[in-house]
Amino acid sequence: MAKTLLARNARVLVTMDGARREIAGGGLYAEGNRIVAVGTTAELPESADEVIDLSGHVVIPGLVNTHHHMYQSLTRVVPPAQDGELFTWLTSLYPLWAGLTPEMIGVSTKLAMAELILSGCTTSSDHLYIYPNGCRLDDSIAAAGEIGMRFHACRGAMSVGVSKGGLPPDSVVEDEAAILKDAQRLIETYHDPERFAMLRVAVAPCSPFSVSRDLMRESAALARAYGVSLHTHLAENVKDIAYSREKFAMTPAEYAEDLGWVGPDVWHAHCVQLDEAGIRLFARTGTGVAHCPCSNMRLASGIAPIRRMRDAGVPVALGVDGSASNDGGNMLGEVRQALLLARVGFGPAAMTAREALEIATLGGAKVLNRDDIGALAPGMAADFVAFDLSAVGFAGALHDPVAALVFCAPAAVALSVIDGRVVVREGRLATLDLGPLVERHNALAARLAGA
Ligand code: ZN
Repeated sequence: MAKTLLARNARVLVTMDGARREIAGGGLYAEGNRIVAVGTTAELPESADEVIDLSGHVVIPGLVNTHHHMYQSLTRVVPPAQDGELFTWLTSLYPLWAGLTPEMIGVSTKLAMAELILSGCTTSSDHLYIYPNGCRLDDSIAAAGEIGMRFHACRGAMSVGVSKGGLPPDSVVEDEAAILKDAQRLIETYHDPERFAMLRVAVAPCSPFSVSRDLMRESAALARAYGVSLHTHLAENVKDIAYSREKFAMTPAEYAEDLGWVGPDVWHAHCVQLDEAGIRLFARTGTGVAHCPCSNMRLASGIAPIRRMRDAGVPVALGVDGSASNDGGNMLGEVRQALLLARVGFGPAAMTAREALEIATLGGAKVLNRDDIGALAPGMAADFVAFDLSAVGFAGALHDPVAALVFCAPAAVALSVIDGRVVVREGRLATLDLGPLVERHNALAARLAGA
């Protein structure tokens, strides 16, 4: 018999189900890794193997992060890359990243996941596209298992170095046949297509300016042969558009279509400069977008037309992006930034707090092609988080605790449950010891920087 868990008495529980209920005095009852009942506390069973009282808390479905490069937490705020735009930023960081080791991948992935989990995220993807010195995606996958996060591991890749007209140095690019072979190995070894999967694999060449046309096409064929998703960066800034026009005589959206990189099994990061024809194409084909507002602001890439995308029917999710181009991996902070940036670009009606939360939950689930996360309802995964409304940052905002989550300064979770397992209890990670992890991460970051 699966272990049962009862969470009850929440000030308000946000379901994000079809009815978009916000249940005062709400709670949920789970058996093993799935939710059996959601409702007011009086409607739920009275006991369970584990009972958690959430008086004074707001409860939401776990947030979903759809774009990240977790290894980059080792190179936050590196001076030459602090003030550049995308291409300058990349070219100053590539030489540092060439020193990555398998231990660095494992430790930085756990560090990045700890930061995400403490900020309300329960499912994350990670896009690892650089594999020097024997690094493998297996290193990230092992880290996710240790900390207990639901994980979509993206097998990234770069194959076109400087000598062939690409952006990365030749020393960090890989052979295309080897990339495809490794992607196939990873899918066969790890990908779980079932509902409630804790681990899925996606095929994810880094970007159109770091791999060949052939690799993009063959990646799509491989992913579709196995029924896994495809992910890359697209239309990030104006230089990206210029590169695409010059190199392929197409806009990034036209290039994506030409390569077969559109469809409900594809999601693209950024799309800041996606044009109207691109928005229509993405809507028509169900192609997803990972919106990364902090990164877009940090690199001055522009303001993604999220209102227009959503109105047209494009599936939009959120991503914190790599910790070097955001420098923070705070998921609730990203939700807040999405709302603020939409308003800077398109006025105060461009996004509401509840819509921002919807993008970060249901939006993430849709973009990752999942029907088992993003909402709290019977039959869904037991992934939920609770925030303590007695925190100083919420004072004066308790007439609308749901909007307070987004409008007030980003809070840390008091409780996080992933796949029915308590991962954060009373604000502390329950699955690993954070102090030694931060210490090791800092030592490795110093080594990588050559200090
Ligand atoms: Zn990225």
